[in-house]
Amino acid sequence: MTMSSFQSQQIDAPTRRQFLKTLSRGAGGAALAASAAPLVGRAAPPDPHAETIGIALVGLGNYATGQLAPALQETTKCELTGIVTGTPSKAETWKQKYEIPDENVYNYETFDRIADNDEIDVIYVVLPNSMHAEYTIRAAEAGKHVICEKPMATSVQECKDMIDACETAGVKLSIGYRLHFEPHHQRVMTLGQKEVFGPVSVMQNGFGFRISDSATDEPHIEWRLDKEMAGGGALMDVGIYAIQGARYVTGEEPVAVTAQEYKTRPEVFSEVDETLFFQLEFPSGTVVDGSTTYNGNYNRLYATARDGWFEISPSYGYGGQKGRTHEGPMDIETVNQQARQMDAFADCIRQDRPSRVGGEEGLRDLQVIEAIYDSVAADGARVPVG
Ligand code: NDP
Repeated sequence: MTMSSFQSQQIDAPTRRQFLKTLSRGAGGAALAASAAPLVGRAAPPDPHAETIGIALVGLGNYATGQLAPALQETTKCELTGIVTGTPSKAETWKQKYEIPDENVYNYETFDRIADNDEIDVIYVVLPNSMHAEYTIRAAEAGKHVICEKPMATSVQECKDMIDACETAGVKLSIGYRLHFEPHHQRVMTLGQKEVFGPVSVMQNGFGFRISDSATDEPHIEWRLDKEMAGGGALMDVGIYAIQGARYVTGEEPVAVTAQEYKTRPEVFSEVDETLFFQLEFPSGTVVDGSTTYNGNYNRLYATARDGWFEISPSYGYGGQKGRTHEGPMDIETVNQQARQMDAFADCIRQDRPSRVGGEEGLRDLQVIEAIYDSVAADGARVPVG
């Protein structure tokens, strides 16, 4: 799975459905303004008569442009009502393409004024990793629910600060773990956690893509090679999916890790990891052989259990999952993962329940990631997690 195939989806012109959603939202927003004064320090409850939850995307880069905005055209419970961008030309394009009114367009300086905008219920942070904590906390302080992209932040401490800020503000927090809403991954969660083929003994999980030498100055790659902005390399960016897979197939938290790092292009990866191998030990005995790289394309989740095996390969992309067990292929349709993910969060807001991929989920991955980096720094020593 290459980054470019991650980004291949095109933006369509606004659909008639989106136009209708906008109309219904406008009516709902007016009703909300007339009937509900915002609660100080807490998210105003969504208008029960409004049909959709309004989402503002923050950071109009590859993922927001290629995946999230198109997915928002497929949602039934959400709509794109606002944008935050530091690039005026993007603001113009998006305003036209998605019929976003001027008053719902913000930049990083005017961001906090979103507090006064009843058309925006959720702020979706799609910025470089080092900016996740700041914008999640500012969004919470503006009284808005938050979806924050993975990795949740660049350190465990930042994750804790984000969770605290959302709790204090009384807003919900969700992490952009789209695969929890993907049916092949939901199937392997069941197969593993319910021990359908007996307990899982060994897993091999890996996700990587190649950053070519000619791509290193592309804007979406440049910050990924900068330790301060990315927090780490392949592990933070795509290795996190292998960790996630291990955690949701076993339904357990790893107790200890060992890890090894290799670099073939140290001049390109002078600040961040290029290739990492890591081993995760789980309390009930499962061992996971994990790997991640910026130096090759691979993409697989495999589990062997006492009475059989299962896999998804390719596994972690936006679509195209292929699942198999020792009994044969999984007959499962792929879906628009991001649309499902955002609609599920809309349900959480409406029904006042936590996200299944809340802040704790992001924090636990960062605990594993920190332990892996500690193990590498200690020449592969066994490091307890958390
Ligand atoms: P991009 O570089 O393509 O986009 C990031 C955007 O952030 C920029 O376009 C820019 O938008 C804004 N930005 C603000 N300040 C800066 C800065 N100093 N440097 C660079 N950009 C800045 O990144 P991606 O879209 O690929 O990734 C964004 C986030 O989404 C990451 O955390 C990544 O891990 C996550 N992601 C998640 C995926 C998933 O499958 N869940 C897939 C891909 C990414 P503007 O010009 O509008 O201000």
